[in-house]
Amino acid sequence: MNIADLFKKEHTVFSFEVFPPKKESGIETIYSTLNELKNLNPDFISVTYGAGGKGVANATTIDLCSYIKNELGTETIAHLSCLYNTKESIDRILDELDEKGVKNILALRGDVNPDFAIEKDFKYASDLTEYIMSKNRGFNISGACYPEVHQEAANMIEDIQNLKKKVDSGADHLISQLFFDNQVFFDFQEKARIAGINVPIEAGIMPVTNKKQIERMVSMCGASIPAKLSKVLQRFGDNHEAMRDAGISYAIDQIIELAAHGVDGVHIYTMNDPYVARRISEGVKNILKSGK
Ligand code: FAD
Repeated sequence: MNIADLFKKEHTVFSFEVFPPKKESGIETIYSTLNELKNLNPDFISVTYGAGGKGVANATTIDLCSYIKNELGTETIAHLSCLYNTKESIDRILDELDEKGVKNILALRGDVNPDFAIEKDFKYASDLTEYIMSKNRGFNISGACYPEVHQEAANMIEDIQNLKKKVDSGADHLISQLFFDNQVFFDFQEKARIAGINVPIEAGIMPVTNKKQIERMVSMCGASIPAKLSKVLQRFGDNHEAMRDAGISYAIDQIIELAAHGVDGVHIYTMNDPYVARRISEGVKNILKSGK
C-alpha cells in the first residue's frame, strides 16, 4: 500500500521508526521488538538505513522491512540514502526491495561522514527521488523535512524551496525531524503549505527517556530544547525511571496538542524500545482514532 493513501483515512496516522542493530549487538532482539511493535497496531513501521554513513549493512534494512511486511503483515518504509550509493548500487537495492514486495522508500541524502568518499551520482534526496521515479517501478517515495531548518541550509525559505523540489520530484509524504516545541512545527507546516507543499506531513516525535542520549541527538540535529523540557532534564535526568516517565508524558502531551491541531500523522522514533512505544500508544490511541 502506498503510505500516502493511509492519510486518506479518518484517523491520525501513527507510525514507528526502528534502526537495525549494530553489528556487534544481537540481531535477535530486533525481531522480538518488531513483534511487540506490531501488536500496537501502527499504520507502518519504517527502518533506518546506515545512519551516519556506511555504518550498518543495508541488507539488514531490507531484511527487517521484509520481515515487517511479509511476516507481520504491517506496512513498512525502507529508508535509503544516496550520498554513498551509485546508480548501479541503487538499482541493486531496488531489485531486492521489489523482490521482497517492499514498495515504500524514504529517499534521503544521508549525513556526510568524513571517513568515506562520497559517490558522484546523487547530490540531494530530490536527485534520488527523481531517479527512482524515472524507473517507473511502482515505488512510492517519502522524504524528510526539518521544522527547525536543516543544519546546512542558509535559512528556512531556502530549505522549504528545496523541500518543494523534493516533493515536485515525486515525494508524496514527508516525515519531520524530531522537535520538542510544537509551535516550531506549526510555523513550519504553515510555511510549507504557503509554498505549495500539499502532501501529508508527519510529525517526528522522540520520547526523551535518557538525558545523555538526547544531548547527543540534539547536538547532531540542532533541535532546540524548550524551557519546560530543560527543567525536566535538570530535575529528573539522573534518575532513569523518573526520566523515562517524564519523557513519555512529555511526548504524549506533544501528541495530544498536535492531534488537536489536526496533524496528518505522528511518527515515533522508538529507539527500538517497545516499552516506551507501548506506553505512548496506550496514552494516545483513542485520541488518534477520534479523527483529524
Ligand atoms: P536533502 O533533502 O537533500 O537536503 C539536504 C540539504 O541540502 C538541505 O540543507 C537542503 O536545504 C539542501 N538541498 C536539498 N535539495 C537541494 C537542491 N536541489 N539545491 C540546493 N540545495 C538543496 N540518515 C541516514 O543516514 N539514514 C536514515 O535512515 C535516516 N533517516 C532519517 C529519517 C528522518 C525522518 C529524518 C528527518 C532524517 C533522517 N536521516 C537519516 C538524516 C538525513 O540523512 C540527514 O538529515 C541529511 O543531512 C539530510 O538528508 P535529506 O534527505 O533531508 O537531504
